[in-house]
Amino acid sequence: MTHVLAVVGGGPRATYALERLSAQLDRLGPGQRLKVLVFERSGEFGAGQAHSPSQPATSFLNRVSSQVSFAADETTTGAGPLRTSRRTLHEWCRERYARTGEPDLDLGPADWPRRYVHGLALREAFDSYAADLRAHPRAELELHHAEVVRLRAGRRLLLQTADGRRFEADQALLVTGHTHHDPLRGEPSRSRARFAAATGCHYVPYAYPLDRLPEETGTVGVAGTGLTAIDVILHLTEGRGGRFEPVAGGLRYVPSGAEPRRVVAFSGSGLFTFCRADDEKGDRAHQGVHLTTEAIDRLRERHPEGLDFERDVLPLIEREMAYLYEAAGGGSFDFARTVDPLASAGAHTPEAYRKAVLDFMELDQRRAEEGNVTNPHKAAADGV
Ligand SMILES: Cc1cc2nc3c(=O)[nH]c(=O)nc-3n(C[C@H](O)[C@H](O)[C@H](O)COP(=O)(O)OP(=O)(O)OC[C@H]3O[C@@H](n4cnc5c(N)ncnc54)[C@H](O)[C@@H]3O)c2cc1C
Repeated sequence: MTHVLAVVGGGPRATYALERLSAQLDRLGPGQRLKVLVFERSGEFGAGQAHSPSQPATSFLNRVSSQVSFAADETTTGAGPLRTSRRTLHEWCRERYARTGEPDLDLGPADWPRRYVHGLALREAFDSYAADLRAHPRAELELHHAEVVRLRAGRRLLLQTADGRRFEADQALLVTGHTHHDPLRGEPSRSRARFAAATGCHYVPYAYPLDRLPEETGTVGVAGTGLTAIDVILHLTEGRGGRFEPVAGGLRYVPSGAEPRRVVAFSGSGLFTFCRADDEKGDRAHQGVHLTTEAIDRLRERHPEGLDFERDVLPLIEREMAYLYEAAGGGSFDFARTVDPLASAGAHTPEAYRKAVLDFMELDQRRAEEGNVTNPHKAAADGV
């Protein structure tokens, strides 16, 4: 009997899925066969779009190289048989640097890799797991450069791709990740799309791939101030020939003149994503004291109708953060102030607001440099 598994999306999670599947093929019972179909609409098997090897070098990963790996290890509960040969991204980079001398691969364990480098390593990992699957006498693998547009349950699952082909499967794993969508289907993207159509602005509902963004030289608005905003801003500045030069106390931006006239970023919090702290833990992750599986199970028993995140789960998160904050010597913990640090800044003019944001970013950077155990704020955020 052949079991058919369809994997929709060919990004990092599909790579991890192939890793587990290929490492466990010996568990197939007598007479059982496995057929895996992977569908990836961009054709970027292994890396997917957000980590594509072809993206501009201005986009960075938000994990240091020694914290990224490509296979399950002893810390993965219930993973099954583990591979004996496993590499971190740092080890992959060192090995590849020794062969190629490519400067972007010359990384230390605590360095931040460019995302395209992560993409190259993911693609290589995907290819090697794919080869393991293909080499097994009772497994098959098909890669489809196609978008799945319909999935219907019946006697078996029926998948349809945008080019009209149909596939049957016994199970489907949906690992479609962060992906573009039709902006007219939901708010607030619908209002933005309509506003743009009415005013003649160019609306881009999804920023990737960055090198296909319009060649705008006027004002660029960026909705959101998270990872994608950082990618976009770096692409529109450094990516257009500007340079960040080290000066006493930080960096100075030297424009090339090819940048947009203005970049206006906006978001509900009014802040960029907080800095990830320098790692002091290695693989010694904090084990929950208040926020535990058992505590959540107890809550589920008490609320068989289902949990409400704010009512049931958030208080446990706050208690766990308060515990970590205090354990790091931080005293009592103010959750509201932690998540909204500018609320008490009293910044009522644009100048005062700008100053408050910059002051907070500097403070946050210092906290991050103290590390995820030493600094109470970062210990609380990193441990939960
Ligand atoms: C800009 C950005 C930066 C990030 N940086 C980091 C980081 O530095 N570190 C980190 O840990 N995480 C980061 N993330 C989080 C990121 O989501 C994960 O690292 C990782 O990409 C998740 O892998 P995934 O396979 O679930 O999703 P994705 O990487 O999004 O891959 C999903 C794939 O599915 C494909 N797909 C979607 N729908 C279909 C369909 N219907 N048919 C066929 N194919 C389809 C897409 O083309 C895509 O390639 C980042 C995310 C973004 C958006």
